[in-house]
Amino acid sequence: MAGVCQCLDVFLTSPWPLCTLCLMDDYSNLEALHTDLTRCRRCAEAGYHIEGQPVFSGSQSARLMLIGQAPGVTEVKLGYPFGGSAGQRLFKWLAQAGWEESGFRATCYMTSVTKCFPGQNPKGNGDRVPSAAEQKLCRPWLDGELALVEPEIIVPIGGLAIRLFYSPEIKLEDVIGKSMVDDAGRQIVPLPHPSGASRWHSNPRHLGQIEQALFCLRMLKAEHGL
Ligand code: SF4
Repeated sequence: MAGVCQCLDVFLTSPWPLCTLCLMDDYSNLEALHTDLTRCRRCAEAGYHIEGQPVFSGSQSARLMLIGQAPGVTEVKLGYPFGGSAGQRLFKWLAQAGWEESGFRATCYMTSVTKCFPGQNPKGNGDRVPSAAEQKLCRPWLDGELALVEPEIIVPIGGLAIRLFYSPEIKLEDVIGKSMVDDAGRQIVPLPHPSGASRWHSNPRHLGQIEQALFCLRMLKAEHGL
């Protein structure tokens, strides 16, 4: 099926009922967005390699949103974000900020820049990084999640997610360990990607910055009564 989007500006060549600009305006609640997100195959339709279903978790009442890069094979199998070895490291960090894993999962929203497993990196080290085109295809979903959940605190994990809130050239060294308030009044507290393939977090020179970021999160958790 193909047709014209409701904005009448875009002819749709895929079965998707709305163009990317209209997509986020169409959802009045997160449940409806989740129903369509779960069925999304935009990347596959555009010729990009993805495996499994989109992965995300959390409810509209969440006050903190964690945004990773993309799910891995373990997350696809389990059906929830950060369920593998990177998740173990992440929850060790979050424990330092005062969150138990079960409590964090129950109360916070967890998503990613692209929500489908992009497959292994052809060079063999970790997962493939989603291309700019895939990030663009998936962006309306993230915009929709942000608009509906309205998080007070956002924790972008890794360069891809961090650069959504900072300049595209920003280095992790310049932002990890500091929080900032964005134009929408949200506290942004970036963390490095906890995956074993990412070496930033294991560099001893960066340990102090990670500790500082976790201290920021601990303070915000107390301030916001989370
Ligand atoms: S990565 Fe995002 S846009 Fe691409 S198919 Fe999955 S949910 Fe859809």
